[in-house]
Amino acid sequence: MTLQTYRRIGIYCGSNDGVHAGHREAARALGALLASQGIAVVYGGGRIGLMGALADAALATGGEVIGVMPHALVQREVAHHGLTALHIVDSMHERKALMAELSDAFITLPGGIGTLEEFFETWTWAQLGVHTKPMGLLDTDGFWHPLRALLAHLDTAGFLRGAPQQWLVQAATPDALLAALHRFEAPVTRRWLRLGET
Ligand code: AMP
Repeated sequence: MTLQTYRRIGIYCGSNDGVHAGHREAARALGALLASQGIAVVYGGGRIGLMGALADAALATGGEVIGVMPHALVQREVAHHGLTALHIVDSMHERKALMAELSDAFITLPGGIGTLEEFFETWTWAQLGVHTKPMGLLDTDGFWHPLRALLAHLDTAGFLRGAPQQWLVQAATPDALLAALHRFEAPVTRRWLRLGET
């Protein structure tokens, strides 16, 4: 089996810390791990919450960190000004499109509705054949158990016919998740939509 290599991984995570210290710790561990493997972090560009913890740890380990943030959020999410690069874009749509374009794979950490929205939109693009990049889910302390239950429900109810789970790579720790992403083999899908087309 040929192992996948990644130059840049896009990370979706909370702009809050959450109440469990383990989530912040996992964000830090992931940032440090990516940096130690020479994989650049692509993320929303903030210095608050798990976003900030991730970026700071990657930078402290000598890694490259690329932020993508819309104008309107620069104040609200407190843009991180110590990044390797900070792209300021006009809209949330542009943010997601640029993050997706820059990234070879995606990892979702614990977060709120913004994180879920980013995760689902990018995952949907995989299902539609817009990209062929894996979706990693970092399941720190079983955080995503309710999401897994919801997905099992959708599957049982017959709404996951395209088997989008083939794109999903899950693990409880950053090390296990990155190792699983390296072993990922993209399923064969019909490429019938490109970004920007409807
Ligand atoms: P949250 O998980 O709600 O803390 O948000 C995490 C990140 O998702 C933040 O950087 C938000 O700005 C971002 N976000 C929120 N809503 C959206 C959206 N509709 N599209 C893209 N990013 C979003």
